[in-house]
Amino acid sequence: MRFLLVGLTKLKFKFRIQLMKIAVNLKLKPTEEQTKILFETLESCNNLCNDLSRFAFETKNFNQFSLHKAKYHETRESSELSSQMVVRCIAKVSDSYRADRTTIHVFRKWAAQPYDDRIFSFKEGDQISLWTLSGRMKIPFVCGEHQRKYLRFRKGEVDLVYSKHSKKWFVNIVCDIPEQDPEFSEKVLGVDFGLVNIATDSDGEVFSGSSVENKRIWYQERRKRLQKKKTKASKRRLKKISGKQHRFQTWVNHNISKQLVSKAKRTRSGIAIEDLNGIRKEVTARKSQRNRLHNWSFGQLRSFVSYKSLMEGVELFVVDPRNTSRTCPECGCVDKKNRKSQDRFSCIACGYSALADYVGARNIAKVAVNRPEFSARRKTG
Ligand SMILES: [Zn+2]
Repeated sequence: MRFLLVGLTKLKFKFRIQLMKIAVNLKLKPTEEQTKILFETLESCNNLCNDLSRFAFETKNFNQFSLHKAKYHETRESSELSSQMVVRCIAKVSDSYRADRTTIHVFRKWAAQPYDDRIFSFKEGDQISLWTLSGRMKIPFVCGEHQRKYLRFRKGEVDLVYSKHSKKWFVNIVCDIPEQDPEFSEKVLGVDFGLVNIATDSDGEVFSGSSVENKRIWYQERRKRLQKKKTKASKRRLKKISGKQHRFQTWVNHNISKQLVSKAKRTRSGIAIEDLNGIRKEVTARKSQRNRLHNWSFGQLRSFVSYKSLMEGVELFVVDPRNTSRTCPECGCVDKKNRKSQDRFSCIACGYSALADYVGARNIAKVAVNRPEFSARRKTG
């Protein structure tokens, strides 16, 4: 199962974007027989695309309409592909020339193929149906709970993709998720990512737990040992373990972000997180801790928190991370020495002492609350 975010537009405060695009990659589970047919189908489509591409390039017929006019009927008669498939191939070639018309475009044997609603559909029991050289074929797919929510927002075409890397089949689906207008938030929940726990909020709640922490450390040490070995077998195992770690991270990140966003919604709070480059800049951690920090995909966690906030109508503040780890939230004293150790904050001026991540989260919330947008909104209602 894979998941990624395509076009989360700049996460500044000013958001009035109506839709957010999310790409969902559904993993297919074709039988051996079906796999054979899928390969043949892709090959046949790409052969046709290469013929069309040659023609388009030689005659400078790049426009979909004119390419269709020139080639559709002739192709229809000679091709084993269905008429709608021919239409999609013409569109695929025309699209590919949109960006670059200086060289002839060649399609790989198993390059991805777009499908539209006339040749692709969802069937009951987690199956898709798509047109192939052997007619319509029903193929089961795997779908996580998170992905399923987005599927009803599917827009337009999907791509049938064979991943050479994983040797697996996918359908890539772009979903247009409607955003909620952010609700009026009365306060801000600050969230600090990373040093001691994966996420800590300004209420002092910690989002990860020891089992996740242990597993995170286990993966890291496992990887380190394998990286040192440099044999073929160790490289293979490293690759495998990276995949496992990645899936584990995605799962944990989904859960943490979900908990954070629902908490904010429940308590009528906005969420404040640090600016994207925050963590690396601010941290002057020892090397071991730096590794620990960068081995977790905080970028993914941040983007999950961001789009879930947008979907749920939770106000999102992205703040400047400067000094959030060395400012005392009680008396305002800013000093490097306030950070006694990596996980402990202890103010040299007033003596206030707490967990460093919690202090960070409080400061992040404070920066957001002091922002003019926040107070302006509250004043005017
Ligand atoms: Zn203080």
